[in-house]
Amino acid sequence: MSDLRDLYQEIILDHSKKPRNHREIAGTSRHAVGHNPLCGDRVMVYLAVEGGVVKDASFLGSGCAISTASASLMTESLKGKKADEARSLAHNFLDLVRGLKLSDAEVAGLGKLSSLSGVCAYPVRVKCATLPWHTMQKALDAGGPSEDESPVTTE
Ligand code: ZN
Repeated sequence: MSDLRDLYQEIILDHSKKPRNHREIAGTSRHAVGHNPLCGDRVMVYLAVEGGVVKDASFLGSGCAISTASASLMTESLKGKKADEARSLAHNFLDLVRGLKLSDAEVAGLGKLSSLSGVCAYPVRVKCATLPWHTMQKALDAGGPSEDESPVTTE
């Protein structure tokens, strides 16, 4: 088990130091802002969706290592997913970091995202890990005429 924990640490460290897809997607209406007042994390998530498929996903913002790693891993895992697959991935990830039991297939579907499973032991950190995902869910819904521009907060 400790080897697995080391691997998880390595993935989190790598993604927090060298976040992937840390940029804006110009011209997309699917974006949302999230704020975690407990930790001070701020994240902007951008999605490019074509024909119901996430073609590109990115984020900007500043936050702690956990929120940055979570956002980075999230953008990598979303590309190529259908919108409903992205939603169910978010659902499973949120269950994982809240310490709920997932099926083997659900865990396998999370891939590298499983590296954040350890945060369930630290309730304050759970909000850091879930912030990018709540923000992504809002970005997926964004772009309609009745768009709500208020930021997502974790409280
Ligand atoms: Zn944080």
